[in-house]
Amino acid sequence: MKVRIILLSLLIIILLFTKLSNAQEDLNYFEVSENLYAIENPHGGNIAFLVTRKGVVVIDAGATPNNGKEIVSVIKSVTKKPIKYLILTHSHGDHINGVAGFPNDIKIIAHQNLAKNNASFNTEKLNNYINNVLPGYLVNLKLQMGSIENKESEEYIALEQDYNTNQEYYEDIKNIEFREPDITFEDYYRFKIADERIMLEFPGPGHTNDNMVVKFSNHNVIHTGDLVFNECFPYLIVDHGVDVYNWIKILDDLYEENITTVIPGHGEVGRKIILKDQSDYFKNLSYQIEALKNAGYNLEDIKKRIDIKDFDLEGNENQFPVNIEVIYTELVSKGVEWWKF
Ligand SMILES: [Zn+2]
Repeated sequence: MKVRIILLSLLIIILLFTKLSNAQEDLNYFEVSENLYAIENPHGGNIAFLVTRKGVVVIDAGATPNNGKEIVSVIKSVTKKPIKYLILTHSHGDHINGVAGFPNDIKIIAHQNLAKNNASFNTEKLNNYINNVLPGYLVNLKLQMGSIENKESEEYIALEQDYNTNQEYYEDIKNIEFREPDITFEDYYRFKIADERIMLEFPGPGHTNDNMVVKFSNHNVIHTGDLVFNECFPYLIVDHGVDVYNWIKILDDLYEENITTVIPGHGEVGRKIILKDQSDYFKNLSYQIEALKNAGYNLEDIKKRIDIKDFDLEGNENQFPVNIEVIYTELVSKGVEWWKF
């Protein structure tokens, strides 16, 4: 059982929080503004799509090729217009690994760091996962199933379910194929399609060093990618260029803008206030870390002393100690009092 738990946490780390599912249930979508739709994607990052008379613009691709296909079929159920552009908010697998489920003739737009980041922190891990980790996990499950005599026992049925889910997932992720973006940018990229204006802005590193904010100018709606985790704990990954100090500034600046609706990377679509909620989480946590640091506590003590229940968030709880560590390290290196923003 312990091996399974370790392997499972490896899986979660490698593919971030791609949710496994063996059921191809329909994805839930809704219109957030005229012709602009959101899909709260249970298997990966949230999706937005804008329907124009000249074609569809999609934000993010989902976590696996099958998830990408599900997204495309939702879009096809709404409009007969072809998908013209796919914008990738950042390089994490749960936002880009669905690209293989999209048609080939679309144009992909991303920040200029995305391809390099994918090569440096996705490809090797994914290949190892597909070639070693997941097959090993499946073999292990088969062995465990073989050792149980009663094939109708709860334990056997649970193992069998786990096996089938992961086998299907294995077949799915073998089809992941990275596609080089057709259009890349450094600071911003603006374009028009039919009567719609779309602005892509790189606000500096926050969640990653290739994150962007997508602004649907005619609608006062934004897709923030993983710059917002609504009501769940955020992923902060040092190797991927996280910069919480700048992340707070990005959120506070956005909050001053004329925005009504925010489509976050994860969690439910919300009003503008969810930008402030994300910023407040970082400020409150930073404040507590700094106060304890100033009182002489070391990092390990601080992790023990801060109560996760002070934060009204649910999901990704295993990231909370990582959040503390990343912010602590940044506080030490920057030597500033963030909570005085
Ligand atoms: Zn991410």
